[in-house]
Amino acid sequence: MKNLYADIIIPVAVTGSYTYEIPPEMRGALRRGSLVKVNFGQSRNATGLVISIHENQPEGFVPKEITAMLPEAASVNDRLADFILWISDYYMAYPGEVMKAAIPSPDILPGEPSARKRRSSKPAFSGEIIMPASLNEVQSAAYESILKQFREKETVLLHGVTSSGKTEIYIHLIQEQLSEGRQVLYMLPEIALTTQIIERLQRHFGASIGVFHSRLTPAMRREVWSKVSNGTLRAVLGVRSSLFLPFSDLGLIIVDEEHDSSYKQYDPSPRYHARDAAMMLSRINGGRTLLGSATPSLESWHNASAGRYGFVELLTRYGDVMMPEMIVADTRSFGKKARVTSHFTPRLLEAIGEALGREEQVILFQNRRGFSHYLMCPDCGWVPGCTNCSVSYTYHKSIGKMVCHYCGRSTRLPEACPECGSEALITRGFGTEKIEEEIRLLFPSARVARMDQDTTRRRSASSEILSEFAAGATDILIGTQMISKGLDFERLTVVGILDADNMMHFPDFRAFERSFQLMEQVSGRAGRRTRRGKVIIQTADPSHIILRQVLKHDYKSMCSSQLEERSLFGYPPFTKIIRLSVRHRDLEELNVSAARLAKSLRRQLGSHILGPEFPVIMQVQRWYIKTIMIKIDSSLSPSKVKDVVRRAMENELRMPRKGFLRIHADVDPQ
Ligand code: ADP
Ligand code: ZN
Ligand code: ZN
Repeated sequence: MKNLYADIIIPVAVTGSYTYEIPPEMRGALRRGSLVKVNFGQSRNATGLVISIHENQPEGFVPKEITAMLPEAASVNDRLADFILWISDYYMAYPGEVMKAAIPSPDILPGEPSARKRRSSKPAFSGEIIMPASLNEVQSAAYESILKQFREKETVLLHGVTSSGKTEIYIHLIQEQLSEGRQVLYMLPEIALTTQIIERLQRHFGASIGVFHSRLTPAMRREVWSKVSNGTLRAVLGVRSSLFLPFSDLGLIIVDEEHDSSYKQYDPSPRYHARDAAMMLSRINGGRTLLGSATPSLESWHNASAGRYGFVELLTRYGDVMMPEMIVADTRSFGKKARVTSHFTPRLLEAIGEALGREEQVILFQNRRGFSHYLMCPDCGWVPGCTNCSVSYTYHKSIGKMVCHYCGRSTRLPEACPECGSEALITRGFGTEKIEEEIRLLFPSARVARMDQDTTRRRSASSEILSEFAAGATDILIGTQMISKGLDFERLTVVGILDADNMMHFPDFRAFERSFQLMEQVSGRAGRRTRRGKVIIQTADPSHIILRQVLKHDYKSMCSSQLEERSLFGYPPFTKIIRLSVRHRDLEELNVSAARLAKSLRRQLGSHILGPEFPVIMQVQRWYIKTIMIKIDSSLSPSKVKDVVRRAMENELRMPRKGFLRIHADVDPQ
C-alpha cells in the first residue's frame, strides 16, 4: 500500500502548508477540512487543518505522522477550506492567521462525532411562527426585481432610502430561502445593531435564526457553530466573523449597511473586507449576495452602474413618511455673539425643547467619545500626549483620567503644566461625555443616556441602552457612530449632529463620502412613523458641497462628484490600493528599511509606488510607522503585483539590522 500524505495548515504566521504522513488507521476517515493534532516545532499538540491529501512523498525530509484526529463534527467542509485559502491569498495573510480567525479554538469546537446523523434530519421550515408583513406595491416590485436579477447576477445592490422597508424585504428573502431548505447569512457591521434586528427576525423565524458575534460566551458560540454545521440553524444574523461558520447549504448572504467601514478587519491579520469576502463565499457556495444600504459605497455604486451587479432602488419611505427636514446651524455667527461656551446652537436647543415638550425623543450625534479631544496649557500651548504613541490624550472626566485612544494607556491629569508650571489646563474640542454633561445641565428633567465604546464595555450594555430608549424610558440618547444607523424608534423625531466639520475635514480621500453617509444615516433615524423628523447640523462651513448634498438627501450628486474626483486622482474604485505598513522601534532603522523596500518595489512597479511616508499617527505603542502605498490601475494584474510585493517584503525582512522590523500589507484598506 502506498503512503498517503496530508498538506496541513497550522495556526501560526508562516507561509504555505506542511506535509505530514497519514497513519493507516486514519486513512478512511481523514478528508480535506478535517482538523488534526500534529507535532509542530516546540508544540506536541498543535491543531492543523487538512487542505489536501495526496501520494507525493516529500523530498528532502521524512514527514512526521499526524498524531490524532478531531471528531468529524469539528471538521469544516470543502467550501470553507476554499474560502480560507482565498482570504489568505487575496488579503496577503498567512493561511495560519486565517485559520486562527476562522476556526474556533478546540475547546469551542463540538466534541461529539454524531454529526452525520443529525445532518440528515434537516428540519423543513414551516412559515407558521408569525407571517411577515405584506409588502406594499413599491416594495413588492423591488423584491420581485431582486429575485429576477438573481437569475443572472451573483450580486444585487439594493439602494433604499432610510425607512423604505429594506429590512422587510430581507425578511421576505430569508423566508423564501428557508422554504427552499437553504441557509441564509444576514450580516450587520456592528454587534450593537444585532439586538434590535434579532428581535424583529425572531418574531418571524423563531429558533431557526440565531446570532453570532465575538461577545457571545464560548458555550453560545459552540452551540451556533454546531447547529450551523448540522443544519438545525437555518439563518444567522452576525457580524463579519460569521462568514467563517460551517454552513452546509448557504443560499443567500445579505450584507446590510454595506457601505460601513466596520466591515473591514484592520488588526490583527487577516485584514479582510467582509462585504467583498461575502461575495466570494456566495460564489463558492453557488449562492447569491444582496448588498443593501441607503448610502451605498462608491465601490458598489460603481460596480452596479457598470452592470457587474444587479441594481434595485427604493426611493420612498414606507407609509409615505416624508424625509426629515434638514437645517444647517452656523456655529460661526453663534460663536461671536455667544457669551457662554456652549456646544449647542440656539436652533438645536429649540428643537430639543420642542421634541421634549411633545414627549418625543432626541438623538445627539458626535463622532468622538470622551470629554474633550485634548487638553492644553493656556499659557504655553503644551498638549499632553501619550508617551507610547504620537497622539494627544483624550480627557475622560468621569474617571478623572487622560486616555490614549490608540493604545488604551491612561494616566492622571498633571497637577501643573510640566513646561511652564501653569496650573489650569483647559479642554479643547468635545466628545460625547461632555455633551452628556452639558445636556444634563440644560435639560435637568430629561432622562439622558449615552452610547459609545466607554458605556458599552459590558456584554449586555448596548442592548439595555437601546431597549430603554425603545421603551421610552430615555428622552435623549447621545452617541457616536454606534447610534447612527439601522435603528428604528417610533417616537424619535429630532436628530442633532453636533460637529459636521470634524468629519468632513478628516485627512482621508474617503472623508467626504464617509461624512455624507454618516449624516444621511443618522438623519434617517428621525421621524420614521407619523411626524416628520427634523435634523439640525452644526457647522462652521455651511456652504460646503457635502452639506449641500446632505440637505437635499442627494446621494446621486454626491456619488457623481466624488467619483469624478476619485477618477481624477486615481483612487478606488478606479484603482486598487495595497498599503504596506513598516514598523520599527528605532526611527533610523525604520527610515533605512522603508526607503530600501520602496526602492526595490519601484524597480518593478515604477510610479505605482507612493511613499514611504509617515501616517498621521506616526508612532503607536512605541513603534514608529511608515507607509508605502501601491496603486494598482487597469494596466497591472493585481495577483502579479501581490507576488512582487510578497517577495520584496520577504527580502527586506531578511536584511541584517538592529532590532525587529515588522511589515504588514493591507489590501483594499478603508
Ligand atoms: P429600512 O430597513 O429601509 O430602514 P425598515 O424595514 O426598518 O426600513 O422599515 C421602516 C419601518 O416601517 C419599520 O418600522 C417597519 O416595520 C415599517 N414597515 C416597512 N415596510 C412595511 C410593510 N410592508 N408593512 C408594515 N410595516 C412596514
Ligand atoms: Zn504651560
Ligand atoms: Zn498610546
